Amino acid sequence: MSQVHICEVGPRDGLQNAKHMMPTAAKKAWIGALAAAGLEEIEVGSFVPPKLIPAMADTAEVVRHSLKIQNLKVVALAPNVKGFQRAVEAGAHKVTFPVSASRKHSESNVRMTPEQMVEEVRKCAQLGGAEIEGAVSTAFGCTMQGAVPEDDVVKIAVSLAQFCDAVALADTVGYANPLQVKRIFSRVKKEIGDKLEGAHFHNTRGLGLANALAAYEVGVRNFDSSMGGLGGCPFAPGASGNVITEDLVFMFESMGLSTGIDLEKLFAARKILVEAIPEEPVYGHTPLACLP
Ligand SMILES: [Zn+2]
Repeated sequence: MSQVHICEVGPRDGLQNAKHMMPTAAKKAWIGALAAAGLEEIEVGSFVPPKLIPAMADTAEVVRHSLKIQNLKVVALAPNVKGFQRAVEAGAHKVTFPVSASRKHSESNVRMTPEQMVEEVRKCAQLGGAEIEGAVSTAFGCTMQGAVPEDDVVKIAVSLAQFCDAVALADTVGYANPLQVKRIFSRVKKEIGDKLEGAHFHNTRGLGLANALAAYEVGVRNFDSSMGGLGGCPFAPGASGNVITEDLVFMFESMGLSTGIDLEKLFAARKILVEAIPEEPVYGHTPLACLP
């Protein structure tokens, strides 16, 4: 039994923000290799309008393929009821909804206020058909709005906890620092207890691992990360996307905490990623330094 649970979000968060399109066949091979390395949960795509994000147009096919992999929890993102219905139809085990705590981000990302978005997720929970995670995004700050009041984050998390199977906090734009992480996770945990499950950090300013460790120290055991820190941010040149899976696994394993993930096999999966989109920048210290 793993002591730390890692969900690979590269095929969704990474590829959605990457400059290069990964062909569907390569996505399938990559997801297979990630699962073979020991990842038991993978966010394989998002059910957003294909016109808006062409890189996610094949998500239904990728979900159906991933369902054939044994012992893999197949996760997809959906921004609304329509996306949720498509996810359930494809057979996703779990659907994640981004609910932005920043008013400006919410309106530009999903064209809804945070309150309207909470209601949208509530409707999906009532429909049923998949496990539901409400992820409070921009929980640590926002590129559009700047500071995000912590009270707003707590309020949204409390609302989501009423009907979601799990709630996560996401540092969508890489503004968080470790003290802030400890403070906000502790505040939300006090309100919703074990419903608070996941931490989603971006490594935009290099604090991804520090923030993950801070969250671990206040009891978080579920982390999102992406292989090679894939994705990046168009507004921060040279910045990687999510906290890097390879380095996150190394950190926990070197601390004696089992993740269930085999690093050598993870490097093999990285090779598939790099070969599929060779011009896309990938990051990570552990794959370059190799194992001690
Ligand atoms: Zn993200």
